[in-house]
Amino acid sequence: KTDNMESQKQHTPVYSCEFFPPRTERGVEKLRTTRERLAQLNPAYFSVTFGAGGSTRDRTFETVTEIHRSGLEAAPHISCIGSTRESIAELLHNYREQGIRRIVALRGDMPSGTRDVGEFRYANELVAFIREETGDHFKIEVACYPEFHPQARDAEADLDNFARKVEAGADAAITQYFYNADAYFHFVEQAEQRGVTVPIVPGIMPIINFKQLARFSDACGAEIPRWLRKRLEACGDDKVAIQALGHQVVADLCRRLLDGGAPGVHFYSMNQAGPVERLWADLDLPR
Ligand code: FAD
Repeated sequence: KTDNMESQKQHTPVYSCEFFPPRTERGVEKLRTTRERLAQLNPAYFSVTFGAGGSTRDRTFETVTEIHRSGLEAAPHISCIGSTRESIAELLHNYREQGIRRIVALRGDMPSGTRDVGEFRYANELVAFIREETGDHFKIEVACYPEFHPQARDAEADLDNFARKVEAGADAAITQYFYNADAYFHFVEQAEQRGVTVPIVPGIMPIINFKQLARFSDACGAEIPRWLRKRLEACGDDKVAIQALGHQVVADLCRRLLDGGAPGVHFYSMNQAGPVERLWADLDLPR
C-alpha cells in the first residue's frame, strides 16, 4: 500500500482533536478539564462541531473563542445547508475578528422537518464562498469518506465531489471515521489519481460506548467490521472490557495508517480526555 501514498508522505503530520459544544454548564466545566488535559499533548488544533442547521451556532462560537483565548489553535466547523450567504459571511467575519485562522467547512445535514436548503447545496460551494469572502485568511479543512458518503450516487461520484472541494480551495481533508485501514489507503490512491495532493488526515473514533457507536455508524455509513462488532457485542455491558478492546483495535489501526504514510490523526474525542491520552501515549505521538 505504501507506494500509493506519495502525496501524503510529503506532508508534516498533524495531530488534532475534535470537541462538540456542550449543552449544559456541567458539560462546559467537563470540557474545560478535558481541554486542559489534552492541551498537555500539544495537538496542532482543537476543532469544534456545528449542530445541524446552525443549532449550536452560538455555543460553537463560545467554545471556539474560549479555546483560542486559552492560547491554543481552535477551528470552528461551519455547515452551510439551510444558511444564507449573508449569515455565513457574518460568521466568517466574526471568527476572523477573533483571530481564528482555520475552519472545517461542511455541507452538514438538514435538521429533520426542515425543507429549505438555503443558498448553498454542497460543501464545495461553501469552500468557494469562504475563499471569495476572506481570501487566504483561513486554512480550510473539508470532510471526506473512505467508505463513501451514504447519499453519494456511487463511489466514483463521491471521489469526484471530494476533488471538487479541493479544487474550490480546501487545504486539507479529515476523513469520516472507519475501522478498515484498506478503505483509507484505497481512497487516498483514488483521490491521488484525481490530482488531489492535500493532506487526507484519518479521523479516528476511539471506541468508548459500543451502543452509541453502532447507532452513529448506521447513520453516517461508517462500517464496524463484523468481527469487531461481534467481539464488542460479546463484551455486553462491561465498559472496561469494551474500552480495552477498543483501545487495542484503534491503536493498531492508527499504527497501520501512520506506518503507511497517513499525514497525522484527527481524534473524535467525544469530549473525553482518557481514550485520546492513552492512544497518544501508546502510539508515542509527538508532544
Ligand atoms: P458534501 O461534500 O457537500 O457532500 C454531501 C453529499 O453530496 C455527498 O454524497 C457528495 O458525494 C454529494 N455531492 C457533493 N458535491 C456535489 C455536487 N456538486 N453535486 C452533486 N452531489 C454532490 N456535520 C455537522 O452537522 N456538523 C459538524 O460539525 C460536522 N463535522 C464533521 C466533520 C468531519 C471531519 C466529517 C467527516 C463529517 C462532519 N459532519 C458534521 C457530517 C457532515 O456534515 C455530513 O456527512 C454531511 O452529510 C455531508 O457533509 P459534507 O461537507 O461532506 O458534504
